[in-house]
Amino acid sequence: MQYLSNILFVIVLIAGIGFFSKNVKKLSRNIKLGKDADVSDNKSERWKNMAKIALGQTKMVVRPVAGLMHILVYVGFIIINIEVLEIIIDGILGTHRIFAPLGVFYDFLIGSFEVLALLVIVAVVIFWIRRNVIKLQRFIKPEMKGWPKKDGNMILYIEFVLMLLFLTMNAADFQLQQLDAPHYTKAGAFPISQFLIPLFDGMTTSTLVIIERTAWWLHIVGILAFLNYLYYSKHLHIILAFPNTYYGKVKPQGQFNNLEAVTNEVKLMLDPSADPFAAPADDAPEPEKFGASDVMDLNWVQLLNAYTCTECGRCTSECPANQTGKKLSPRKIMMDTRDRLEEVGKNIDANKGEFVPDGKQLLDDYISREELWACTTCNACVQACPVSIDPLSIIVEMRRFLVMEQSAAPTELNNMMSNIENNGAPWPYNQMDRLNWVNE
Ligand code: SF4
Ligand code: SF4
Repeated sequence: MQYLSNILFVIVLIAGIGFFSKNVKKLSRNIKLGKDADVSDNKSERWKNMAKIALGQTKMVVRPVAGLMHILVYVGFIIINIEVLEIIIDGILGTHRIFAPLGVFYDFLIGSFEVLALLVIVAVVIFWIRRNVIKLQRFIKPEMKGWPKKDGNMILYIEFVLMLLFLTMNAADFQLQQLDAPHYTKAGAFPISQFLIPLFDGMTTSTLVIIERTAWWLHIVGILAFLNYLYYSKHLHIILAFPNTYYGKVKPQGQFNNLEAVTNEVKLMLDPSADPFAAPADDAPEPEKFGASDVMDLNWVQLLNAYTCTECGRCTSECPANQTGKKLSPRKIMMDTRDRLEEVGKNIDANKGEFVPDGKQLLDDYISREELWACTTCNACVQACPVSIDPLSIIVEMRRFLVMEQSAAPTELNNMMSNIENNGAPWPYNQMDRLNWVNE
């Protein structure tokens, strides 16, 4: 019987990890659909950013209540899962609490896991109340309807249930230890789960074993299921926050990237020795598309950004355009980018590795021109993001496409650009006229 249980455990483990690896491959393939981006600079600053922002969660505590509770859930969840290692070894070998020989240290570990589990439960309940009862503004914006709302709640339910299973498993185990049940080594400290023991009063050893084994199995299967849920959820950030903060922008925030092709053109125009009528060489490559109208025109860091977005809405709540009732929400820009990227990925899967044009694109089908032109390029969203996402860079690329490929800027901008071209200033009169007041 024990033998069968071990085999079943190995099968479940291989299936869980195998399916997760499949999704990781898909994720990496989708991110690589983006253009190249040179992120080989400032390595030490990048490592520092990752340690500070992803590991240290420094940007989370800007909002202390949510920040501290998030740290609690994050630390609690990660540390408690160290215990998963013991569960896996026990599951494969058929042992029980294999780390018990660590003695007092083991007791300390199990005891602190239990305290953390309780704190995670408290934090998760508060998070749920903030989302569903208090209905904080940033959680009820239009882009948070449907799946994003369900996903946010689902994560809280899963974490709550996993912690509860952990405590139930320990409580039943503790009771079995008191009853000297065979196989249940006396080990561990149970400062929290001991309070559940009255629930087991009068139960036979075999009933307790069933409860303990059921909680043990559900706990590990739940963790494997949660691991596989990540790909479909905003919770993917628990993994991607690390690479994302490493590859995040290290240049000054207001600095835009110049388009190489345009820079070369300008240099050529300023070079008196260049032939202004020279035609491009016969073997010159096709000029690159300016800006972005779809996800494949963005670079891979921007696509990584989209998968990393936690949908926390801190960017949107700081966005002056959103605050003044405009249609723009930087969070939606990131969610739309991820949704479109997923759609492109599914298209590739369905067409044997080739993308077959589907008549859709990120521009207009997901992100409207109204949203794009509402942006003031203030960078407040970039500053607010706790995982170094840059929604503005996507907005700028899409505007570039509209202006440089389609000449489709709003009239006011077109007028301003013509004025700059003709008068050297954004106003509709000559630069020299502007100085007439000096003569007066
Ligand atoms: S840069 Fe644009 S999207 Fe970001 S906060 Fe400012 S206005 Fe909003
Ligand atoms: S872009 Fe950043 S701040 Fe905005 S919702 Fe996503 S994670 Fe939150």
